Amino acid sequence: MIAALPQVQYEMVIGLEVHAQLSTQTKLFCGCPVEFGAPPNTHICPVCTGQPGVLPVLNQRAFDYAILVGLALNGEIAAFSKFDRKQYFYPDLPKNYQISQYDLPLVQHGWVEIDAGEGPLRIGITRLHMEEDAGKLVHAGADRLSGSTYTLVDYNRAGTPLVEIVSEPDIRTAAQAVAYVQEIRRIVRYLGACDGNMQEGSMRCDVNISVRPVGTEKFGTKVEIKNINSFNSIQRAIEYEYIRQMSALNGDNPTEVIRQETRLWDENAQKTRSMRLKEGSDDYRYFPEPDLLPLEVTPDLLAHYQAQLPELPIAKRQRYQSEWGLSPYDAEAMSNDRTTAHYFEEAVRHGAPPKLAANWVQGDITAYLNEHHQRFEDLPLDPGGLAELIQLIESGTISNKIAKELLPELLERGISPKALVVERGLTQISDHQQLIEALQQVLAESPQQVAQYREGKRKLAGYFVGQAMKKTQGRADPQLLNQLLSSLLD
Ligand SMILES: [Zn+2]
Repeated sequence: MIAALPQVQYEMVIGLEVHAQLSTQTKLFCGCPVEFGAPPNTHICPVCTGQPGVLPVLNQRAFDYAILVGLALNGEIAAFSKFDRKQYFYPDLPKNYQISQYDLPLVQHGWVEIDAGEGPLRIGITRLHMEEDAGKLVHAGADRLSGSTYTLVDYNRAGTPLVEIVSEPDIRTAAQAVAYVQEIRRIVRYLGACDGNMQEGSMRCDVNISVRPVGTEKFGTKVEIKNINSFNSIQRAIEYEYIRQMSALNGDNPTEVIRQETRLWDENAQKTRSMRLKEGSDDYRYFPEPDLLPLEVTPDLLAHYQAQLPELPIAKRQRYQSEWGLSPYDAEAMSNDRTTAHYFEEAVRHGAPPKLAANWVQGDITAYLNEHHQRFEDLPLDPGGLAELIQLIESGTISNKIAKELLPELLERGISPKALVVERGLTQISDHQQLIEALQQVLAESPQQVAQYREGKRKLAGYFVGQAMKKTQGRADPQLLNQLLSSLLD
């Protein structure tokens, strides 16, 4: 018998760089509008196309957003930071350098707390810096990059304000990576600093990933996967790269090599492929941007920004659990974005029990919104109306079933649930005499079942109650029916 060789267990070491586009009206250093989908090269000027002799001027709103994001990520805001030129040649970069921040970034030493289903986990944030985006190359003449015969360049995006958020290599699984990017997205959206639209490229992410035997300290060779723009792709690119690197390390696939390189996630092929060997930072010959003033943040200014921070998703999640008794799942669903949280909190403020409000908000109401492509802020039924509906159920005026039937009309018309219940004559019947009459009719129509019930087939009670519900068009109080039934039969 041949003993199986002991399998080496490998773990991933992952760090992420998230690029978030700041929601400003204009670009980072000029007055050109920022607008997705505009005709090519219509939002450009001498500054963002790098003409000689022009001077960049920092967009104040971009600076405000960058600081707010830094604070929300628990970072230290530098009292003094500056812009630098990162120099490289590429056709989408009209100046042949990108204005970024190198050795003195705006924010350092932050963290976010995530939960990828294993309990809370803190992911360190090395730094956050501001930088401008490059333009966009459009490879034409074929439906994909390979085989294209010429390339067009669109500078509309050049100079768009970004923050780059660099994590510590604290992430170990694809699920943690996804949870991390989701939390960053929630935070920037709460602040209104970035719309988080990954499809339009307002949020993109580079994944740095290496693999090492479990229990070792030394990092393996790091591979960077660039420009991933969906949660699904983050998950699958990491899973693919883990297997690729592991099979190279344990010799299962001797043709596979791990080099320090930049790879691309190929959505069609569902695999990563090599793009270029990784440049070191020396290759960029960074130097301080001479045309822009350094950034100074005084303690007073910092306090001014701190005062603007809204309650963040993590604080809401914790409060919903500790004060309102929601499960972690419900707390996350209710705090996922600010408008959902606002609707939910307002319903509770109007007297709805939190758990019931959460059920309605994430169940029927969200389903309705998705189906009708609407958002909470467009909903005619205000949170007070939802609270009223829940109170009608709680007080026994209507059944849960009727409430669900009424909901679409309530959501569409935004009228008071009480008024609609009266208008439709739907109040729950709790009048004993009326219910006894309904039950007596049912019993009279079902002599066989009555006989079987009396012989011991007790579960027929459900049948009798169901028939009585039918006779009252679902308006009878089912609990009361049950009580009355036993008094009639037993
Ligand atoms: Zn411009």
